[in-house]
Amino acid sequence: MKKINAFKHFYSSKRASMNIRRVFTLIELLVVIAIIAILAAILLPALNSARERGRSASCINNMKQLGLKAQMYTDDNDNRWLPWRQGPRGDYTYWFPKNQYFAGPYLGFTTNENGCYKPGSVVDCPTNIAEVDTGYFGNRPTWWDYGLASYVTLYTTPAAVKQHSKWMLVFEGKADTEKFRGYADASGDTMGIQKYLNRTVHSQGTNLSFLDGHVEWLPCKTQDEYLIIESRYWYTAREP
Ligand SMILES: [Zn+2]
Repeated sequence: MKKINAFKHFYSSKRASMNIRRVFTLIELLVVIAIIAILAAILLPALNSARERGRSASCINNMKQLGLKAQMYTDDNDNRWLPWRQGPRGDYTYWFPKNQYFAGPYLGFTTNENGCYKPGSVVDCPTNIAEVDTGYFGNRPTWWDYGLASYVTLYTTPAAVKQHSKWMLVFEGKADTEKFRGYADASGDTMGIQKYLNRTVHSQGTNLSFLDGHVEWLPCKTQDEYLIIESRYWYTAREP
């Protein structure tokens, strides 16, 4: 009898302990889920910003290549800028893909029959996604994310500019009302910035390539069109 009671006691206490174990397992599971949720909430923004830094680095690399190729053009063409629109002999040679007069050979690529580029090329910023173009190229995507500061290349010469490290050459484009990007307004006023420069594409700032070939990220500190570029020259052909 004693033996049976002892067995019953052992068995019931084992069941009790098993029940307790099951309850603990559930709690443990909930705790683990809660910890994972907290860690995910903490880590995801950091991961996203790291990913964006990677995209921005790839964009800076694109802009450096474009700047270097523009310098090659200048060296090969009697010290003239890579044309935004008009070539050294007054012919129409476009910086952006428009037709056979495109300055593509200097930029290291050619267009296909539709004038389109595939994502991943040197004119494709991973963050600054080009919209479907309904302007010059009809209803098709161009993946042409950068613009050339047309005012500089149309109205100055390399010899006339003193501070090459302060003049913008290539910038991050924004589709204008015609959903066309690839240049800045040649009228050269602040409207050019409002219309064509994507000021907040990379972490509330934008990458800019300068005439001396260096590229830097500048923050969009205010809505003031002048302050965003600090002491850099954008709209005027005159140096102070
Ligand atoms: Zn970019």
